[in-house]
Amino acid sequence: MASTSFSVQTSSPPTTEEASNPSMALLSSSDQSPSLPRRSSPFLFSTLLITTCISTAAAMAFAFLLFSSPTSISNPSKLQVRPLTKLSHPVVLLISLDGFRYGYQFKAQTLNIHRLISNGTEAEPGLIPVFPSLTFPNHYSIVTGLYPAYHGIINNHFTDPTSGEVFSMSSHEPTWWLGEPLWETVVNHGLNAATFFWPGSEVKKGSWFCPSEFCHHYNGSVPFEQRVDTILNYFDLPNNQIPSLVTLYFEDPDHQGHQFGPDDPAITEAILHVDAMIGRLIAGLEKRGVFEDVTLILLGDHGMVSNCDKKAIFLDDLAPWIDVHSDWIQSLSPLLAIAPPSEFSAAQVVKKINEALSSGRVNNGEHMKMYLKEDLPERLHYSESYRIPAIIGIVDEGYKVEMNRKQSGKDCGGAHGYDNAYFSMRTIFVGHGPRFAKGRKVPAFENVEIYNLITSILNLEGAPNNGSLTFPDSVLLPCSA
Ligand SMILES: [Zn+2]
Repeated sequence: MASTSFSVQTSSPPTTEEASNPSMALLSSSDQSPSLPRRSSPFLFSTLLITTCISTAAAMAFAFLLFSSPTSISNPSKLQVRPLTKLSHPVVLLISLDGFRYGYQFKAQTLNIHRLISNGTEAEPGLIPVFPSLTFPNHYSIVTGLYPAYHGIINNHFTDPTSGEVFSMSSHEPTWWLGEPLWETVVNHGLNAATFFWPGSEVKKGSWFCPSEFCHHYNGSVPFEQRVDTILNYFDLPNNQIPSLVTLYFEDPDHQGHQFGPDDPAITEAILHVDAMIGRLIAGLEKRGVFEDVTLILLGDHGMVSNCDKKAIFLDDLAPWIDVHSDWIQSLSPLLAIAPPSEFSAAQVVKKINEALSSGRVNNGEHMKMYLKEDLPERLHYSESYRIPAIIGIVDEGYKVEMNRKQSGKDCGGAHGYDNAYFSMRTIFVGHGPRFAKGRKVPAFENVEIYNLITSILNLEGAPNNGSLTFPDSVLLPCSA
């Protein structure tokens, strides 16, 4: 059993008391979420001191078996990493449920998700997405530990202002995708990685060539069952060929959330379906005798909120103050991103729009605010990229932006992409496996912490990123007393 911990202390881990007391966790996380103290540069690193617990693990395993009580919730710090019994190396199975809003796990009897929660470590209340709380920026932050400004995927769709080229969710040219995703880190260390879908996984970067046996090109029509069964087959390989990292992606319940909003019975149905897929996965791992050896990380990319009740802001209403041309708009809602031509002053455009919004004469104008990107709240980390358009509009929770009343879209459904401080944008995080205490709760955290968490479990030295070096120690079971 091997694991790595970084010994540089830059922040305090949650206390045992916080971890076992949900109300304290709530306070702690709400303190944390709007103003997360972060290093201003993504790559300000102290020297890493890497310590491994390979040698101590075997001894601890014996001690653990003899003396540890089963799954103490009250004092997880007394527990130690659990030894592998069948696998020769740590394996992380990273599962994304797209648009799984935190709290969805209580919508139905999600027996399998709750099995992971009660026998693993859960972020309560939830995992905080990066801004903008959209699918591609978040999935790529999860696997790189970088905010979108640094990993380059600043929106689901955008235009590169220098080249004029357009990024879409099917763009696989490596120049778009910055940073080092987990699968690249894993193969850099001579190990196998496998991806059954993940944004960015088909991009050939560094030593990652998206090998056909381990890398599946996105096709949303592949049944969820087939995805699970393919992953399970990897555990039938000779031990040294079993991938150290496996990603698994499900489009649900995002799909239903957009269509019907977060409180529709269709969501409940979708939750039960993905829960059944988790059950299928667990059963397959148990059949192979590796369930307790594999680290399962179950998470989502963002939450979902209803945008019903006529919560629209129409850009046509701004006309008496400024004519916002449709070809200036890079994205409309809920992230309004505007790139005016160079002959227009971005500062003047922002001033005029804000004058209009605060005039009391624009429908729902008080629910949107425009910013020059460099003036956005620092906690959003959304300015340090030339790809981010000069002007960003932030709308209140559940509001939407439309060009005009004629082109008004679907009246009622669900959306995400809002300020990541909103609770509705949070998603789930559950870790289950040898390095996660059973029944433990940890305070909410941002998903840029996941990269270091996984490299730590895999005992790999990761690439520089925006996550905290001490975070893994605050969540994972210690290697030694
Ligand atoms: Zn999504």
